[in-house]
Amino acid sequence: MRLTREQIVSAYVEILGSERVITDEQTLKDNSADRYYKVENIFGIYALPLPAAVVKPGTPQEVARVLKFANENGINVVPKTGGSATEGGLETVVEDSIVVDGSGMNQILNIDIANMLATVQCGVCLEDLENELREIGYTTGHSPQSKPLAQYGGLVATRSIGQFSTLYGGIEDMLVGVETVFPNGEICRIKNVPRRAAGPDIRHLVIGNEGALNFITEVTVKIFRYYPENNKFYGYLLNDMKTGLEILREVITQGYRPSVARLYDKEDGLYHFRHFSDGRCVLIFVAEGPKPIADATGAAIEEIVSTFGSADRVEDKLIEDWFDNLNWDVSKIEEERVEIRETLINGFTTEISGNWSVIHDIYTNALARIRNEISAEFSLLGGHSSHSYLNGTNMYFVYYYKIDVDPTEERSTYHDPIQNIIVEETLKLGGSMCHHHGVGKHRTHFLAEEYGSSLYMLETLKAAFDPNGIMNRGTIFPLKK
Ligand SMILES: Cc1cc2nc3c(=O)[nH]c(=O)nc-3n(C[C@H](O)[C@H](O)[C@H](O)COP(=O)(O)OP(=O)(O)OC[C@H]3O[C@@H](n4cnc5c(N)ncnc54)[C@H](O)[C@@H]3O)c2cc1C
Repeated sequence: MRLTREQIVSAYVEILGSERVITDEQTLKDNSADRYYKVENIFGIYALPLPAAVVKPGTPQEVARVLKFANENGINVVPKTGGSATEGGLETVVEDSIVVDGSGMNQILNIDIANMLATVQCGVCLEDLENELREIGYTTGHSPQSKPLAQYGGLVATRSIGQFSTLYGGIEDMLVGVETVFPNGEICRIKNVPRRAAGPDIRHLVIGNEGALNFITEVTVKIFRYYPENNKFYGYLLNDMKTGLEILREVITQGYRPSVARLYDKEDGLYHFRHFSDGRCVLIFVAEGPKPIADATGAAIEEIVSTFGSADRVEDKLIEDWFDNLNWDVSKIEEERVEIRETLINGFTTEISGNWSVIHDIYTNALARIRNEISAEFSLLGGHSSHSYLNGTNMYFVYYYKIDVDPTEERSTYHDPIQNIIVEETLKLGGSMCHHHGVGKHRTHFLAEEYGSSLYMLETLKAAFDPNGIMNRGTIFPLKK
């Protein structure tokens, strides 16, 4: 039999104590949605069922007890840390859910210079770890725009990626080991080793799971030496995106790894760099690392760009200034709330990835369809490529539109249809959804789209390692304890 709200709350008060089971109405409202519903939140509209409680465990053992009770009683659990999610991953769509808030588990547990590792609890804010590391000459290499807001549980759960990804990769390249709690209360650890070859890498059941499989309590990431004095900044104005994408491809495929390699189209360029973009596309590189590497990367960028002729270099200082103001903190979120309320202009983003051969077509097709099919008045409709890989790049679509209807209806009127067009055009040309901030409420749909029949592989993973199964059992040695 389903428990009532009151029974759920009193059970958790018994498990955690009343001060860590929050039930005041405004907290429940604020925890019923994330920034996917930001306009509604600004206008005080809470359309989703409110959670029964926000519970705040302080140890992995408490997380285990919280999840076990939920599991045994069919209570929906929404894990949370920094609360900066943008894709609906924090929506409490199921009646009487509990939000399990890990932000109180916020200790930096170990900085291990010998092995270049940092171990943190899930509620450690990325900026706090980064600041602490920089003081002693190291860095996480991770710089999502939400660095001052996002915490390690969410960073791993959303498969986050930052602005220096071309050099350091996404969180999947940084995560070494993890501790996570499964719904039955089992606490599992994946240890910190440089590489493993024992079957499929099950860290990937944790990375990007968006709270749908387990609750991350502790994370160990790589750290890197920090050489800000060697940073070199490059900015160019170009006439079209195609040239910019070709330059990006050339730099990356020749084997160079600038930390920042970004290309903004004319519209997005005007938005970010109005003071110098002159209505043209903006291409940005930052070369970093030990001096000989930063210098060589910089020299190669200059040479490669020069072979494309039409690129005009801007002052390095302009790019350095941009670099020094990359992030959004709580005050910026507040500013945005005021701005949306006053202007009724809402901004959103959708990010996809595609191989070099299709990315330009995805970009132009999606933008053309949005212009033709969506009646919104746009104050910005454009995009940029911000993470490049050997095989291709991503495209980050940015759209700011006038809310000309009841703000409570705005999301379904514009944001969803725009996002749908981008997704359709991407999948048509063989690209993939690649929200750096997770796919949130679209998770189930995109998993099926992305992996199709290979989801079967995931389902059979367990069976494949069953000693009584039919596939290549080999000789099985019992583990000596
Ligand atoms: C202004 C702004 C800029 C942003 N820029 C970027 C960017 O550049 N790159 C980027 O990747 N993202 C970006 N994001 C999105 C967001 O910051 C990231 O997704 C971030 O990783 C979320 O971390 P969080 O701690 O805030 O997680 P939350 O918002 O608390 O949760 C996010 C998701 O992770 C799950 N989750 C949270 N904690 C846990 C846990 N302990 N165990 C299991 N699941 C958990 C939640 O259920 C939810 O689905 C941006 C967001 C904002 C508001």
